[in-house]
Amino acid sequence: MRIGGLVKNTALDFPGILGAVVFTQGCNFTCPYCHNPHLVRFFGLPVSETEVMEFLRKRRGLLDGLVISGGEPTLQPDLAEFCKKTRGLGYLVKVDTNGSRPEVIADLIERGLINYVALDLKTDPRAYPAELSPTGLGDAIIDTVNILKRSSVAHEFRVTAAAPFINPASMEALARAAAGEAPLYIQKYRPDNILSPDYMSAYEQPSPSDLESLREIASPYLPCLIR
Ligand code: SF4
Repeated sequence: MRIGGLVKNTALDFPGILGAVVFTQGCNFTCPYCHNPHLVRFFGLPVSETEVMEFLRKRRGLLDGLVISGGEPTLQPDLAEFCKKTRGLGYLVKVDTNGSRPEVIADLIERGLINYVALDLKTDPRAYPAELSPTGLGDAIIDTVNILKRSSVAHEFRVTAAAPFINPASMEALARAAAGEAPLYIQKYRPDNILSPDYMSAYEQPSPSDLESLREIASPYLPCLIR
């Protein structure tokens, strides 16, 4: 595993669970508002997998879960093995994903290696532009949405209210695709240290009333909250 960082204690990232977070390195997306630009590309290995496992061994009984975030965790070839080791130590595992590798998420679910998935939806799942996903996606995002909806694994959908990707039409399209009982959380992007600094000058942050309007568009389809 290429690990770019470890947060040793969080009560915010895994619903109802006190846990830690590992951030994997490498992403196949180029969201201009990404606030983890240092994780999008490989930059060496500040934290080894051995260190993470040693940390988890020592914290058994004090922490209950591990969040695997990124970057994009599903690009790591040994993600399943890493989840298996973590589960073997008694931890619950949550994976944060951009949804581009449905086959990886399906495999992790089928093998019982993960307990929670947070899927970031960036725009209408059927129409990701090259600006977000330079390599193209086909039906990958909609496949991941459907895998989660069919599974018994707890999950949530998340959306960063960032123009021009999120607007009333794309919000309705993604809410319609994700429709069901799992929640959708709307969040603003963090303006500090983003992947494409020019993005800040081109688009304004949404106002509270913009966020509320987006929430109202999604609410007929699934529980929707502003974070
Ligand atoms: S915000 Fe976009 S570019 Fe950044 S890690 Fe997530 S999917 Fe990758």
